[in-house]
Order: sequence, then C-alpha cells, then structure tokens
Amino acid sequence: MNKLAENLKANKLKVTPQRLAIYSYLANTNEHPTVETIYNSLKDDYPAMSLATVYKTVASLRDSHLIKEFNLGEDSNRYDAHMENHCHLLCTKCHRVFDYYGDIDLKHVMYELKSTFGFDTESFDMNFYGICEECSREQS
Ligand SMILES: [Zn+2]
Ligand SMILES: [Zn+2]
Repeated sequence: MNKLAENLKANKLKVTPQRLAIYSYLANTNEHPTVETIYNSLKDDYPAMSLATVYKTVASLRDSHLIKEFNLGEDSNRYDAHMENHCHLLCTKCHRVFDYYGDIDLKHVMYELKSTFGFDTESFDMNFYGICEECSREQS
C-alpha cells in the first residue's frame, strides 16, 4: 500500500479509487488547483466521478488535515497537499500560484504579538500578490 493510502487509513478515511485519485493528484501538483480543475483533470480517467464527489472528497481530506484549503480572493478555493509551512505568491495576471519555502523570520512579529496582545501564534497564513517573472517579461 502506498503512503497516500496509508494516510487515508490513518485518518479513518476509506481508501476508494476516486478518493485516492483526488488525493494523489493534489500530492503530485504544485498548481494549487480548484475543485473544478481537479474534476476536469480526472474526469476522463474516472468517468463516474461527479463534481459533487470532488467537493465532498476535498472537504474530508481538509477536515483530516491531509490537505490545505485556502482562498486568495478568487471565486474558488484552492487546495494544496503540501503541508509544510510555506507562503503563496499569486500572480494577478496569469493566476498561477507559486510556493515560497524560504525562511521568513517571524520570531520578532510573534514576540510582539505575544507581548502586546498576549497572543500565542500557532500557525500563519501569508500571501503575496504580484506579477510573476514570465508575465513581467511579456509586459516589457
Ligand atoms: Zn504570471
Ligand atoms: Zn503551496
């Protein structure tokens, strides 16, 4: 049994071919797809899969913390199976999302939040909006 199927089992999610297909699609892409994109990419291989199934499946994967759901101010939520802390860079022109895994020193900010508001930060969500390299090359 592969790692993804084991993750499903460990979270008491039944390993169905469709669920596994959706999960592994997300695990193998860096495109941060929407439900519509996932559905359109898989429907040829899984003709019995409905859009509603994809919605339900990503919701159960999200609830089990196997994937992240986030919104960058667009019409649809996006999904990411890469769970390590990282930032998202949205190109406002081509709407591609890039990952930034570099170190952002937030220790100072977290310290301030704690000392000013008594707030304990457990996780953070930081997004950057701008123009990607490819799009800015096209502009000039
Ligand atoms: Zn772009
Ligand atoms: Zn990401």
